[in-house]
Amino acid sequence: MHHFTYRDGALHAEGVNLVDLAAHVGTPFYCYSTATLERHYRVFADAFGGRDTLICYSIKANSNLSVIKTLAQQGAGMDVVSEGELRRALAAGVPPSRIVFSGVGKTRDEMAHALQAGIYGFNVESEAEARALSAVAQEQGRTARIAFRINPDVDARTHAKISTGKAEDKFGVPWNDAAALYALAADLPGLEPCGVHMHIGSQITDLEPFERAFKLLSDLVGDLRTAGHTIDFVNLGGGLGVPYRGTDDIPPHPDDYARVVERAAGALDCRLLFEPGRMIAGNAGILVFRVLYLKHGDQKRFTIVDAGMNDLIRPTLYDAHHDIWAVDEARGQEPALVQDIVGPVCETGDFLARDRALPPFREGDLGAVMTAGAYGAVQASSYNSRLLVPEVIVRGDEYAIARARPSYEDMLAAEHIAPWLTPRKAMGRA
Ligand SMILES: *Cc1c(COP(=O)(O)O)cnc(C)c1O
Repeated sequence: MHHFTYRDGALHAEGVNLVDLAAHVGTPFYCYSTATLERHYRVFADAFGGRDTLICYSIKANSNLSVIKTLAQQGAGMDVVSEGELRRALAAGVPPSRIVFSGVGKTRDEMAHALQAGIYGFNVESEAEARALSAVAQEQGRTARIAFRINPDVDARTHAKISTGKAEDKFGVPWNDAAALYALAADLPGLEPCGVHMHIGSQITDLEPFERAFKLLSDLVGDLRTAGHTIDFVNLGGGLGVPYRGTDDIPPHPDDYARVVERAAGALDCRLLFEPGRMIAGNAGILVFRVLYLKHGDQKRFTIVDAGMNDLIRPTLYDAHHDIWAVDEARGQEPALVQDIVGPVCETGDFLARDRALPPFREGDLGAVMTAGAYGAVQASSYNSRLLVPEVIVRGDEYAIARARPSYEDMLAAEHIAPWLTPRKAMGRA
């Protein structure tokens, strides 16, 4: 469910006509819908109505400050994976008590900053990290609330690059080490082990892996309590999938997900934390491009557009499918043609769609890559010295440029030519 629909023959983001928006902002650009962000957060939160929950939106999916603030105003906490993301959350006014810090490689500086800020807790991914965090906390005279991230060795049945809960993935600590690690943490002076964390992967479209993982987690909480630990929260991570292919692959509804959670963890008498990212932001964003040229190769029809893999890397990195719509509704109703949609970047992997039956785009047409709100702009780069793609957020019939396209002057000003490369003025004798 999202708020990108045709009206008066043109695709709109809520009440904003994308033809007009493209004329104002220039292409390519990302466009986010406030109503969609809010709706997704509410659907998720309402699925757990009545329970003591803390829903920490996973900032890495889309870290635009306006997106963070939109969700924070709905009551969302934040899941961060770096000091940069922590600073974004704080800059958007998120209370530190609603922030959790994840990731396998937090530096001591990052730990110190997060402790000073007074965040809710840390998801700890190794014994070495636990020891480092304890030392940093002790230096500050503080105690860090922690949950070990448990790797349950469950196959989330998702793309290999976004599976995180198998024994061979770098994430979490092995299930079998958990008892010893909690005992160690309880002895370390700077730590208070009071939660258990799991996050088994992303774009999960089947509830069964969640069910198995949560059952393991719930058993572990029982064992830890028996061993004398006070476990007051469990963090079930994120991972719920979104529909990338129109209406073909409907992921589980949050209500069904909530039933699985209830069955596995409902009796634990714990605060429940969640870290949804994609499920909140995915369908709330699109990438708008303009068609530059058409080219008929020997075998293929190429539609060359002004957005490339540097703006949206998901198709080439994860073999991801994104629906592509014509902004002009009439064009979308003409008979489809099989084509590749490719960008200007000098890489064969620079495509947005391959061998797909899509509208018969013509030069100058606008198109929209759908479901691009999560893991889109955040992974953009300036490869080929292309300017970082701007981000626009819409609310009703208003829009705001939430991150501007930099200028070429900005791009060049960030670099300095090494002094020895600049010829010195001739000195003294010739
Ligand atoms: C990336 C990540 C998430 C969010 O995953 P989604 O699939 O976007 O919901 C949640 N928790 C952790 C620890 C993550 O690394």
